[in-house]
Amino acid sequence: MRKPFIAGNWKMNKTAEEAAGLAGKIKENVGNFEEVDILICPPYTSLLAAGQAVKDSLIELGAQNMHWENSGAFTGEVSPQMVKESGCKFVIAGHSERRKYFSETNQEVNKKIKAAISAGLLPIVCIGETLEQREQKKEREVVEKQLKEGFDSLPEEDLGKITVAYEPVWAIGTGKTASGEQAEEMHSFIREWFKNAYSSQTAEKLRLLYGGSVKPGNIKELISKENIDGALVGGASLKADDFTEIVKNSA
Ligand code: PEP
Repeated sequence: MRKPFIAGNWKMNKTAEEAAGLAGKIKENVGNFEEVDILICPPYTSLLAAGQAVKDSLIELGAQNMHWENSGAFTGEVSPQMVKESGCKFVIAGHSERRKYFSETNQEVNKKIKAAISAGLLPIVCIGETLEQREQKKEREVVEKQLKEGFDSLPEEDLGKITVAYEPVWAIGTGKTASGEQAEEMHSFIREWFKNAYSSQTAEKLRLLYGGSVKPGNIKELISKENIDGALVGGASLKADDFTEIVKNSA
């Protein structure tokens, strides 16, 4: 049985002070909620404040990105150790906004996954097709390539440290959610891919999150599906009450 997992991606929102406020409210609401694993991912500059605010609770902290090198001349970047030092247990890799606006490639995602694991971080790897690719019926092909290249030469023992988030790009921040059936179809395809690439045992343990306009009103249907183990939530994770309801509705 895979434990439900709800992760909030705050994107480029919330100053340190605002982040402490939001994280504090989430802690008040679900800080001791044991039925669901809960993660918040504030921007880098708000990690310490948010981390302080959720201290002594079950809520985990994650970063939204990182570089794969440990140090060096990479102006504007943040290393795995820096992320770890900021109190993070998790890090998101390959979010579609990173792929779209910062041209992040599958090869870079692969390096980030490996660097995160080496640093003792748990990666949440995002994959998903654009609207154009879905209209061309290429969603499986696109996702398969992201998996093949993103997980290239990743040893089976590391898969237990990974969460995969299927986020159809056309559903992110658009208010359009994939239907439960559409999402489950892709999740089942993704789990099959892991079964073939690794083993059934490992694939069965892997948590697969859905992302794309998840709200308190649609999470129950999504999480009721066999291969959907939780959600990566953007917009609704910025409202303590909505996020709380999503968490509670996932139990
Ligand atoms: C996301 O940022 O990963 C996301 C799914 O955003 P939203 O919930 O706003 O669609």
